[in-house]
Amino acid sequence: MNAWTVIVDHPPFFLALAALLGLLVGSFLNVLAYRLPIMLERQWQREAQALLGLAQDEHTRFDLCLPASRCPHCQQPIRAWENIPLLSYLALRGRCSGCKARISPRYPLVELACALLSWLVAWHFGPGIEALAVMLLTWGLLALSLIDAEHQLLPDVLVLPLLWLGLIVNAFGLLVPLSDALWGAVAGYLSLWSVYWAFKLVTGKEGMGFGDFKLLAMLGAWGGWQILPLTLMLASLVGALVGLALVRLKRAQMGAALSFGPYLAIAGWIALLWGDEIVASYLQLLGT
Ligand SMILES: [Zn+2]
Repeated sequence: MNAWTVIVDHPPFFLALAALLGLLVGSFLNVLAYRLPIMLERQWQREAQALLGLAQDEHTRFDLCLPASRCPHCQQPIRAWENIPLLSYLALRGRCSGCKARISPRYPLVELACALLSWLVAWHFGPGIEALAVMLLTWGLLALSLIDAEHQLLPDVLVLPLLWLGLIVNAFGLLVPLSDALWGAVAGYLSLWSVYWAFKLVTGKEGMGFGDFKLLAMLGAWGGWQILPLTLMLASLVGALVGLALVRLKRAQMGAALSFGPYLAIAGWIALLWGDEIVASYLQLLGT
């Protein structure tokens, strides 16, 4: 009996493995969401300086691997045992071992959310290549949501590879027929692109960014054009509710409410997993 048959024959083992994998990936997503925007900003700065013929700022190496993570307060390097997802945070009681400064609960929460979402995907699809593919998408959407909420930025370097991956996954017929995926990508992009220009012509303002068009195209490439109406409806609904709540609470972080990306990501993910059930129960509700 090889390892794969053990996993396939034992769904509880597969689910536990998915959650564990999610925990580890969540830890990496924390690093990605923190470092990628800084890397991109430096790259754009270098490009702008080169274009304008200005002297280039000298930076020490900064990428996903280096420099090693440090406590932002006392600069103490984070040791290997302090880098174990969730457990280290609990063992350290949420404080740096050097200076006792509080570690943001965001890190363990992202790890926990990633484990939970990976578990849900594994549970929904069961053991198989579909579950692995959708887990990859889920991790990408989580990273994009974190980055967009904080920086109002949906990096092409994440969105575009996931768009191609969605088309490739469906070229093998894993989730939807390839033609549905292709038209999903096209219609996803064009629908928000049209809304953007209509809004701009009428109000003279920009309601969303080009990243949002690409994100919806990416979601269409995974779930087919059929998930787009539900995705847009859910995203607008949740976005409006959260926006209203934030205005009510007079929260200072209005930037987070202005990003449409996280709502699109959450709505698209829900529509991909449970779209058919949601539409069916809605139609049933209308019929009764
Ligand atoms: Zn410290």
